Formats: sequence, structure tokens, C-alpha cells
Amino acid sequence: MAEMQNTAAKQSNPLSNYFRQPKIWIRLPSKGKYYPSDSLEHSVNDEYPVFAMTAKDELLFKTPDALLSGQSTVEVIKSCIPAIKEPWNMPAIDVDVCLIAIRLATYGEDMDVTVHCPKCNEENDYSMNLRIWLGQFDNFDYNDEVDVDPLKVKIRPYSYREVTKASLQTLEQQKLVQIATDDSMSDEEKLAKFQTGFIKLTDLTVDLIAGCITRIESPEGSVSDSKIIKDFIDNAPKDVFEKVHAHVTEIKKQIDLKPQEMKCSHCGHEFSTPIAMDQSNFFGVRS
Ligand SMILES: [Zn+2]
Repeated sequence: MAEMQNTAAKQSNPLSNYFRQPKIWIRLPSKGKYYPSDSLEHSVNDEYPVFAMTAKDELLFKTPDALLSGQSTVEVIKSCIPAIKEPWNMPAIDVDVCLIAIRLATYGEDMDVTVHCPKCNEENDYSMNLRIWLGQFDNFDYNDEVDVDPLKVKIRPYSYREVTKASLQTLEQQKLVQIATDDSMSDEEKLAKFQTGFIKLTDLTVDLIAGCITRIESPEGSVSDSKIIKDFIDNAPKDVFEKVHAHVTEIKKQIDLKPQEMKCSHCGHEFSTPIAMDQSNFFGVRS
């Protein structure tokens, strides 16, 4: 209903011809799979329109607190890629591509970054072409099966909600572990704090891995109940966990933004440097 009113408002607004138009069309690394129903309006040709940010989106994206919680990313994706109805539910493997596309649609295909040379420490300004950057995801294919003979373990990508929650929890536990180096505490206290933090971090990792397993097929049959799967992971020989963990880590490596090869214009040193789609890069040109 809200959608219909919205459309009606657009039609009656004499300025509607000047509303945002799609700037580019993108393919999602997930190919539109793994979205719960109603979270993505599927397109027939697997391409999705991307609009430039509005003034409101831009303001949202400059609010550090909202950024950390993931809320502003969610709002901006909803506004600029309206086919994604509920970005919290989207597979996290799609998020970077969406952000690069929104950056491209809003400020054009060149993104200026400043990098310090690791050898002479001089500043180098580079211009990155976001279209080429997007191209590195073209051949990505999410492999959702892990072979742990005689078992077949089926997995799914994490949602953006799960990834955001996990990184906030990890940050919290890392702080606890760091406190353990505080000099005002006795050694026993430090050790206790460190161990608690460390055990919680390990639990988080195991929970996350177990949580992305959707089904386990054995010669005896197939299991998809999440409680039974968690119980199995807690009691299985460690190589089951390790194989699934290695598989998930490998996928993350494939989908993470590749470090860029650079050459220092001052001393000629060649090096590779990671470039993140973070806030400073997102607004590098304008702010
Ligand atoms: Zn240099």
C-alpha cells in the first residue's frame, strides 16, 4: 500500500521527470540467490538498477555511529538499489559490490585515493577506476558444498545482519582481551579476563560457522535441523569444523576487495596495498 501511494505521488508531482534515474545496472555476486522471500525483487536478466545517493543518503553515510551499527549502509542500499527490499537480510557477499556501484553512480567512475609509500613514506595520489574494480567480481561463483568424506556439508553465505553483529561482538571481546594487558591488574585477574575473552571469541567463531551450515548429507540421510547440526559440530572430530572453516575463509578471500598494485612516483618502489570501501574512500572526492 505504501508502495502504491509512493508511485501515485511520483506521478502527480510535476517535477517527477527530474527524479533520480538508474545510473548503472549491476549483477550481484550471489546471483540473487540466498535472499529470503520478499528481501529481493528478482530481476529477469539478473541485473539490478543502481541510483545515485540523495542528499539524505549522503548525510546518513557521514554519521559515524550509524555506520558502525550498519544502519546507514542498510538505508543507503535500500534507497539506491530499491530492488533490495531488506538489506539486513542480503548475503554479505553482495555488500561491497553494491557500495562500489553506489559510489560509482553518485560520483562517477574514478575514485581518488592517497597512499603512503611503505619505503620512502611519501604520499601518492592514485585514481582508481571503479568499473574495473567491479569487474573483478564478474566470475565469482559461490560454492555452497564442502566435501568431508563421507559427509557433504551444504552452506550458505552470511547475511549482512549476521556479519555486522559478529564484527561488533568480536570488537567487544577483543577489547576484553586487550584489557588483560592493563598494568593495574594482578596477573591472576589479567589471566582470567584474557581467558574469558578468548573463550568467547572462540565460541563466536564456532557459532558463526555452525550457523551457516544449512544441511549435512550422510550415507544414512540428510539433516537440516540447526540444533542437530550445532550439536554435531560440537561433537564432531575437528577436521569437519576445520574443512568448513577453511572453505568459508577461502570464499571470503575470493570476495574481499583485492589489494591494488602501486608504484611510488617518488622512489619507484612497487608495492601492493589494500583498498577498503570504507567511509574515507567513499567520500574521498567530496569531503
Ligand atoms: Zn616511495
